[in-house]
Order: sequence, then C-alpha cells, then structure tokens
Amino acid sequence: MHPARTLLALSLLATAPAFAGTGLDAGDIAAAEGLRERAMRGSEAWNVVESLTTEVGPRMAGTPADAKAVQWAKARMQAMGFDKVYLEPVSFPVWLRHHERAEVLAPYPQPLVVTALGGSVGTGDAPIEAEVVAFANLDALKAAPEGSLEGKIAVITNRMVRFKDGRGYSPAVGARSNGAVEAARKGAIAILIRSIGTSSDRFAHTGAMRYVADVPRIPAAALSNPDADLIEHMVARGKPVRLRLDIGAEMRASYTSHNVIGEIRGRELPGEVVTIGGHLDSWDLGTGAIDDGAGIGITFAAGALIGQLERAPRRTVRVIAYANEEQGLYGGKAYAEARAAAGEIDDHQLGAESDFGAGRIYALRAGVDPAAWPVIEQIGQVLAPLGITTERGGSPGPDVGPIVAKGAPWAQLAQDGIDYFDYHHTANDTLDKIDPRALDQQVAAYAVLAYLAAESEVDFGSLPVKKEN
Ligand SMILES: [Zn+2]
Repeated sequence: MHPARTLLALSLLATAPAFAGTGLDAGDIAAAEGLRERAMRGSEAWNVVESLTTEVGPRMAGTPADAKAVQWAKARMQAMGFDKVYLEPVSFPVWLRHHERAEVLAPYPQPLVVTALGGSVGTGDAPIEAEVVAFANLDALKAAPEGSLEGKIAVITNRMVRFKDGRGYSPAVGARSNGAVEAARKGAIAILIRSIGTSSDRFAHTGAMRYVADVPRIPAAALSNPDADLIEHMVARGKPVRLRLDIGAEMRASYTSHNVIGEIRGRELPGEVVTIGGHLDSWDLGTGAIDDGAGIGITFAAGALIGQLERAPRRTVRVIAYANEEQGLYGGKAYAEARAAAGEIDDHQLGAESDFGAGRIYALRAGVDPAAWPVIEQIGQVLAPLGITTERGGSPGPDVGPIVAKGAPWAQLAQDGIDYFDYHHTANDTLDKIDPRALDQQVAAYAVLAYLAAESEVDFGSLPVKKEN
C-alpha cells in the first residue's frame, strides 16, 4: 500500500468508535467487567451445587427425585431473585435400574464391577451364563460373520482417549449407543462394553444405549475399565471365558417432568432472549455434581448476578434447567418444539449451555451471523483476563442443539475437560470433585456473555436450518 494511504487507513482506524458494530458502549463494558469481578470475588455457584447434591442427590429422569429436583430448582430460582420462574412440561418413557451383577465363572472365577446401561432390558427370570467373544471395537464386532455370536456374550474393549476438549468421547461412545443392536444382529444374547470413560478407578460408567425395531433387545452393561482389562487378560490366555450376568431393569410408560425456567426481564426488548442453562437430571449412580449440577450452579449464579444489576440489560436473560438430557435431550427438544410452535425461534438471540463438568473455561466460540462477530470479539475482550481466548469453530451444548437445528444462534464457553470423563456417569461424580474457585471463573464468563449479548442491539442472526432426522 502507498505510504500516504497507509497513514489514511491508520488514522481512520484511530478515529473509529471503540465499540463499532457491537451496539455496546463504554458503560456496558464497565458493567460487564463489574459482573466479572463480582463473580471472581466469590459466587453462589458452589452453594447451589452443594444444595442440589445434598438435598436432592441423584435425580434420574422420571424418578421421584426428578420431581423433587424440579421443585428444588423452582424454589432456588425464586430465592435468587429471578423476575419470573415457570415450568414447561417434558414427557419421556421411564427407565429404572433394579440390580446388576456379573462374575467370571471360568477359567478364573471372580466378581466383576459392572453397571447396566440406561435403557437396557434385564436378563429375565434367570441370570445369563455364556461364553465371551471379545472385540477391539464396534467396527470389529460389525465385521464378525453372521450368526457367529449365537448364544454368546459380546464384549467390546475399545479405550476412550483422554483430551482436554473431550474429543475422545464421540469415537468411543458408539460401542455404548449401538453395541447391543450390532451384537444382537450377530446372535449375541448380551453385551458388555469397556466403560466410555478415562478413569482407571474401579467404577463403571453408565450412559444411554438404544435398541431398534426388528432386532432382539439384549441386556447391555459397562465394565469398569480395570475389569475390561481383566477380561482381556483372560481372553488372551486362549481358554473359553464364561460369565454370569444378572441385570434387573424396567421400562415404564410415559412420565411428564419439567424444564424449569427463570428470567431476568429485558428493559427494552423483553421479547428477545439470550439463554444460558444446564441440565437438571443426572444419572442415578453419583450425585450428579459435575454432570450437571455444576452447569446448574454456574448458570443460576450468573443469571442471579445479572438480576442484581441496577439496570437490567435490553434483552431478557433466560436461565433454563433442562429436563432429561441424559436419556435423549428430551428437555432441549421440548424447549425447541415449544418455541417453534409459538413462532419464537427468531426471538432467540444467543443460546449457551454449561454441560462439560466443572473445569475452567478456556475458549469462547460462537455460531452467529458474520455481521454479529464484532460483538463476540468484544465479549471475548472482557473474558480475556479470565484466561479465555476467542476462537472460531466449536459447537452448541447438547440441549441447545435442537433449537440451533431450527436456526437459533449459539455460543460455547469451552471448558477444560481433562478429567471430566474420569467421573462422568459414575458413582464417583460427587461434590468433592468441584473446585469452587473454578466455578467462580465460569460464573464470571457466563455472566459477561449473557449480559453483553442481551445488552447489545445487534441481531445475532439466524443460521441455515439443519435438516432434522
Ligand atoms: Zn451432562
């Protein structure tokens, strides 16, 4: 560029308004920084998680504890000063775990630590006793000859790999979701998988599995990771390995739970909403502290902090405690369906969910109209002192996915999940795994994100609508 033009460009830059294209001014940024500092001095998040895990504890969808959690969330939001707190119905079938036992019968008899997978049928009147056929992963099982697992127990031993961003989960989790169907297609009468988790502790990781029409429904359970090692060592000796598996589980008819929603009403554009939230349900084994008591605590506390400001942001901030995420995103789907039925998808300016444990946030990412990216970058500048960088890419949280599929924009505050899958869906998911200071950092980030997105007048746009299957 010609030197004179360079000078001209520089001077234009220097005179451009500091917050161009963001719909925000210096006062808004100062308010956001104030929220950040208040959260970092100590937030309510840990107290909220302590209350939920102590007073309700495990709260598997459709159990009496689910109903108790809904009442707890409603009362807690009211006590924290939300302007409006309400429930929306979410219906789903109920799965109940009764018992699970497994042991090696031969060649080296000993007990195994297992947990039934969510949705599994039981073993019926008598335990199953059968020989094991082990596979390195789901693809190896799929490649087995037709009928080769007739009367056998299939075992899949693939290991989930540990990463800060949890990207080891999706390549591993197919064994849990689809293993029973694929094993039954080859004639197996039950399936055991290595836990989808990174722990070396002797806790099995549960999680949802599914059946399909026209394929026999066989019992499915996860072995703790050391027990999967044990089976591998036995199989390696070349002698037939026989197991006994005894699972009691039950599927019941439809139950109606609720999404619990709290709002800080927008001062100028109350019909436009920015949503943050977590899921209220948990698995039944632990107390659901990191999955997802943490997300509930973080977003309740962030919303309440915004509610304590002298002046509410322009748009409404809506905090959502989603029902039954674990067994199929029922809460997120019901929320999106209700908004679509009411013609309110376009009112959704930005949605974010905290559902990746209690580790610190390191990145802000978003799916918004390119014209709104300056707002995301501005939010990123306020988040930078928290050790958070602004990045392209990313994906919405699980319960935000259904409304994003209908065109709503989203943001993601990516957390350090290096140890998340050590505890995920186990009896070991308990409050002691949470560092209160890390929660404060996340409250600060969610409060800044929700406040500035709600204060800005810039339209975050709509995304190309994905085809739903
Ligand atoms: Zn979760």
